[in-house]
Amino acid sequence: MSETLTSSVDKICQETDCGEKIAELTPEQRHLFKSFTYCPYCAEEMTLVCNHCHEQLASADFKFCPWCGAAFE
Ligand SMILES: [Zn+2]
Ligand SMILES: [Zn+2]
Repeated sequence: MSETLTSSVDKICQETDCGEKIAELTPEQRHLFKSFTYCPYCAEEMTLVCNHCHEQLASADFKFCPWCGAAFE
């Protein structure tokens, strides 16, 4: 890899309404979302995504994003 990109694993709900609610939360509240399994707004299972490219991740244990190559901190 020629450049070192860093990112973080984000947990989101794919429902548009929930995504809008989550976007309005403070960073502290959003941090809490990473420990959730289900969305507190619609009870759908939360989805792991790369904070850099927003692609879906199959595991929270990944050290690098399989889509954009960013290193997770
Ligand atoms: Zn939701
Ligand atoms: Zn990525």
